[in-house]
Amino acid sequence: MSVLKGRRAVITGGGTGIGLATAKRLAADGASTVLMGRNLERLEKAAAEIDGATAIQCDVTDQASVAAAFAKASAGGKIDILVNNAGIASGRPFHKLDYDEFRRIQNVNVDGVFHCTKAALKDLMGGDYGRVVNIASVAGLRGGPYISHYCASKHAVVGMTKALAAEWGQTKVTVNAVCPAYVETDMAENAINTIMSNTGRTREQAIAELAGMNPQKRLIQVEEVAECVFWLCHPNSFTVNGKAISLDGGAP
Ligand code: NDP
Repeated sequence: MSVLKGRRAVITGGGTGIGLATAKRLAADGASTVLMGRNLERLEKAAAEIDGATAIQCDVTDQASVAAAFAKASAGGKIDILVNNAGIASGRPFHKLDYDEFRRIQNVNVDGVFHCTKAALKDLMGGDYGRVVNIASVAGLRGGPYISHYCASKHAVVGMTKALAAEWGQTKVTVNAVCPAYVETDMAENAINTIMSNTGRTREQAIAELAGMNPQKRLIQVEEVAECVFWLCHPNSFTVNGKAISLDGGAP
């Protein structure tokens, strides 16, 4: 299958975890992919394993860096797909959360989406097909202890998704959000370590706690998230717009 043949996709945070799996999935259906992130060495290594992939250094919090990276990406061909995946998380009870940490999370998770979407806008609007997929989280749909800053950022991403879909309803561009529960990546690994150090639980107990939030009692695999992103990028999914799709194993 090559339904994305001739399409160019930028994936922020494309060197690891969900972003890397997404790049591989889109490339498997013919897209040329551009992996962006701060760690160029890691990105280049990842890109070398994917047909038609390139690596471009980009800090999504830095407007100048984003502008330069997207100009470079666009010079290689019009950007048709933007996957806003770069993100960071931390766990902190609100009374211990300081403003710097709060802002650090918003800068990457919210401002990053703003900067990258702005930078890709001209290309996205310039044809008969465009897709923006924002990797939000179930934390963008509901709350949870110790993640008020992360929840705030992911709720903002979901809000931006819905607003842009409404605003661009008359265009060929769709904007959707994917909202996974815990996915087995470095980010989940950090959450496991946080639980262990805060509660004294063993690694197995910490994993069970995260998996237990999913009615299927498991951590989600990166390929499952990537498949949903691919589906949203499929030309036939045009009618799906402004949606926040939960990937949570059936949480109520
Ligand atoms: P990773 O930590 O593997 O990926 C995060 C990616 O973001 C890295 O590739 C990193 O690359 C990039 N990144 C971080 N900061 C910046 C920055 N300032 N500029 C550019 N790139 C940046 O974790 P995941 O794959 O799990 O996370 C991907 C997305 O999925 C995130 O938005 C996360 O919030 C979301 N998510 C994750 C879940 C999970 O349980 N894992 C659940 C729900 C949502 P580099 O360091 O090179 O910059």
